[in-house]
Amino acid sequence: MTEPDVASSDATNIETEITRDGDHYVINGRKWWSSGVGDPRCKVAIVMGKTDKNAERHRQQSQILVPLDAKGVKVVRMLPVFGFDDAPHGHAEVILDNVRVPADNLLLGEGRGFEIAQGRLGPGRIHHCMRTLGVAEAALEKMVKRLQSRVAFGKRISEQSVWEQRIGEARTNIEMTRLLCLKAADMMDKAGNKSAQLEIAMIKVAAPNIALKIIDQAIQAHGGGGVTTDFGLAKSYAGIRTLRLADGPDEVHNRAIARLEMKRYTNAGPALQ
Ligand SMILES: Cc1cc2nc3c(=O)[nH]c(=O)nc-3n(C[C@H](O)[C@H](O)[C@H](O)COP(=O)(O)OP(=O)(O)OC[C@H]3O[C@@H](n4cnc5c(N)ncnc54)[C@H](O)[C@@H]3O)c2cc1C
Repeated sequence: MTEPDVASSDATNIETEITRDGDHYVINGRKWWSSGVGDPRCKVAIVMGKTDKNAERHRQQSQILVPLDAKGVKVVRMLPVFGFDDAPHGHAEVILDNVRVPADNLLLGEGRGFEIAQGRLGPGRIHHCMRTLGVAEAALEKMVKRLQSRVAFGKRISEQSVWEQRIGEARTNIEMTRLLCLKAADMMDKAGNKSAQLEIAMIKVAAPNIALKIIDQAIQAHGGGGVTTDFGLAKSYAGIRTLRLADGPDEVHNRAIARLEMKRYTNAGPALQ
């Protein structure tokens, strides 16, 4: 979905064109952050573009299957994440230059791209959050073990009260976030993805933010070693930091949460005294 030339957190901005030509579609555009493209097993891309710029805002987009070996598909470069190369999964910048694919490659029908994206993104987001909680848990474990293994100023660093506070807060934050994640997953299982819209948005903001705080403290606990690649913490930080952007930046999810909250009080009359 994402394109370098437009603010792609608003997917209605997408500029890639998907134009019908007989029994084919012709695709022109430039994408980036196409995750997975670097993996040698990746053979097909799902590309979102516009089939009708005059349709209603959310009916202009369609999704289409594009084999990566089709003529006109060019991987321009692989994008590093804070200097880390994310191989083999890899995120790429990709040019689509007059790429022709059979009309049958269009998914679901013209104008239904947004609908597909909405259906897929919920389950994708909660999956990111579950992995993020695992990373937070691993960082907390590394932090505690390191603090227990080193002595500074006459006592174990773990016994300095500031670390007791940080460890206590980290455990509480992990448990709160895990419960919110479980609530979202339970609602998705029992009542469907749409009913868990609010919970998915909340967990998508909460999980990376608490994990980043814990990883940051684990880095601090490791001293200079924390920012090397020796303990895996710098890579964890880089990876989880991307989740405040990937699948929608925090602000867009908070906006959705706020709108649902405000809707509760629309026409509700004056506030209680
Ligand atoms: C590691 C990684 C993997 C990714 N994988 C994929 C992928 O596989 N496929 C794909 O299509 N995309 C992918 N993305 C792209 C990601 O989804 C986009 O970066 C994201 O949606 C933001 O779009 P943008 O980068 O164009 O930022 P912009 O839309 O330019 O937004 C920039 C900033 O503006 C602010 N902003 C935006 N809207 C609001 C608002 N309403 N209120 C307040 N502030 C706002 C936010 O701070 C936001 O970060 C990936 C990104 C990363 C980092």
